[in-house]
Amino acid sequence: MLPGHHFIDPVSGAACELVIPADGSGALYPSADGAGKIGVRHPGCQVLADIAVELDAFYCPPPGCGYSGRISGVQVLDMMRETRIAIRVTIPPRAGQAGPA
Ligand SMILES: [Zn+2]
Repeated sequence: MLPGHHFIDPVSGAACELVIPADGSGALYPSADGAGKIGVRHPGCQVLADIAVELDAFYCPPPGCGYSGRISGVQVLDMMRETRIAIRVTIPPRAGQAGPA
């Protein structure tokens, strides 16, 4: 990846940026309490795309633009380690179930 977490999406050739909140609040998927999210900033859109590290891919869901591209999941995890952010994946509780204590 380029410095500053910028990289070129090999699908479109567009310059994108891996965004990891500097305060350590980021999670790969947004939590129910609205905590920060790790995502990909892409051209012409204000929505951070979701990253599927297991698929080496990212996707901008509705109400975003639907952009999809490729990113190395291993590099995402390395970048998270480099920024000393604990890997935290939050899975929302199903309706009727209590959330984590
Ligand atoms: Zn988008």
